Amino acid sequence: MTVRRITLLGATGSIGRSTLDLVERNPEAFEIEALTANRSVTVLAEQARRFGARLAVVADPDCYSDLKEALQGSGIEAAAGADAVAEAARRPSDLVVAAIVGSAGLPPTLAAVERGAAVVLANKEALVCAGPLMVAAVARHGATLLPADSEHNAIFQVFEQEERAAIERIILTASGGPFRTFSREAMADVTPAQAVAHPNWDMGAKISVDSATMMNKGLELIEAHYLFALPEQQIEILVHPQSVIHSLVGYADGSVLAQLGVPDMRTPLAYCLSWPRRMSAPVDRLDLAGLGQLTFESPDEERFPPLRLAREALRTGGAAPAVLNAANEMAVAAFLEGRLGFLDIAAVAESVLAQQVPRAPASVAEVLEVDAQARVAAAETIRQRASA
Ligand code: NAD
Ligand code: MG
Repeated sequence: MTVRRITLLGATGSIGRSTLDLVERNPEAFEIEALTANRSVTVLAEQARRFGARLAVVADPDCYSDLKEALQGSGIEAAAGADAVAEAARRPSDLVVAAIVGSAGLPPTLAAVERGAAVVLANKEALVCAGPLMVAAVARHGATLLPADSEHNAIFQVFEQEERAAIERIILTASGGPFRTFSREAMADVTPAQAVAHPNWDMGAKISVDSATMMNKGLELIEAHYLFALPEQQIEILVHPQSVIHSLVGYADGSVLAQLGVPDMRTPLAYCLSWPRRMSAPVDRLDLAGLGQLTFESPDEERFPPLRLAREALRTGGAAPAVLNAANEMAVAAFLEGRLGFLDIAAVAESVLAQQVPRAPASVAEVLEVDAQARVAAAETIRQRASA
C-alpha cells in the first residue's frame, strides 16, 4: 500500500482519536495533511505537532490566536472559522475522515465529496440532513463514501454490490443503550451522567445520549437508506445487547451474512482507512466461547419513540430528516446542560417535526436554512417544556 495522506475533520473527538491511534501504529502507511477541531486548541496543536500536519484548523474564530500561539515555531499553518474547515476538506489528500459531530459537519463533508475525495464517513448527521444532495454529489464528482459507523461498515463488508437485486433486507443491530430494560417511568428521571455511560461503546457525549434514546438507531436507519439505496421497509432494526454482530444483510436464497467483532471503532475505521485492503488493528479478538451467548430482542417503539420518528421522517421525505436531526441536536444539548428531561428529547423532536416540514432542500444553503429554522422552533419548544 502506498502512503495515504489523511485530512481528519474532528480530530480531537472520540473517532478522531481512534483514527490517530491507527495512524500512529502504522507510520509507514499514513501521513496527516490537516487536522480540525471546534475549540480544543491544546489537544489539536499537540496532535498537529505529533503527526507533522501541514495545517490545523479550529472552527471557532475566537480560538485563532491561541492556536497560532500553540503552533509557534512548528511551521504548521493555522486557520480558523467554519469556512477554513471546509477549505481544509478541499485540499488534496487521499482520504478525508469526516468525524465532526452534528450537522456542522455537512459543509466540510460535502466539500470533500465535491472534490471527488474518498471520504471515511462517521458524521452520520451530514447524510441524515442532506441525504439526496450528498448521494447526488458523490455520483456527480466520482467520490467514494466509506461508511465508518460500525453497523454500516458491517453492511458494507457483506453487501454484494453485484447481487443487489437479490438483497431482500438489511438488519441494523442496536445495543439498546443503557436504558434498554427501563420503563418509561424509570427513564423520566435519568441523568446526563447515566445517559452517557454506554454499556459497550466509549463515544462522544452527543452520540451516547442518542444511543440512550435510540435516536442513534433512527439516524442510522436514515443513514443506511441513503448509503445503500434501500427503501425504509427493507431496513430492520434488531436489539442485540452485546454489540458483537454489527449488522446483517439478508439475501433472496435465505442466506444472512453478518460481520462480527468486539465493540471497538478501530475495526471499522481500519477497514475504511485501508480499503479495499485490510490492515491490522490493535483490538481485542472476539472470543465467542468466552462470551457464551449472543441474545436478540425486538425493538420497542413505545419506550423508544425515535425509532418511529425516524421512519416517519423518511416516509415524509423532503426536509423532514433534517428537521428531526436539528431538533434532536438542540434537545440533546439542552438535556446535557440539565435544562431538559430525558423523555423530553424525543418529545421535542416529535413536536418540531410536526410543526414544520419544508419542501426538499435543493442546495446545501437550503439545508442549513432548514436546520436553522428547526433549531429556532426547538429552542422555543424546549423553553416551554422547561418552564412547564
Ligand atoms: P466527539 O464529540 O467526541 O467529537 C466531535 C469532534 O467534532 C471534535 O473534534 C470536535 O472538536 C468537533 N466539532 C464539534 N463541533 C464542531 C463544529 N461546530 N465545527 C467543527 N468541528 C466541531 O464525537 P464522536 O463521538 O467522535 O462522533 C463524531 C461523529 O462520528 C458523530 O457524527 C457520531 O455520530 C459519529 N460516530 C461516532 C462513533 C463513536 O464511537 N464515537 C461511532 C459511530 C459514529
Ligand atoms: Mg453506529
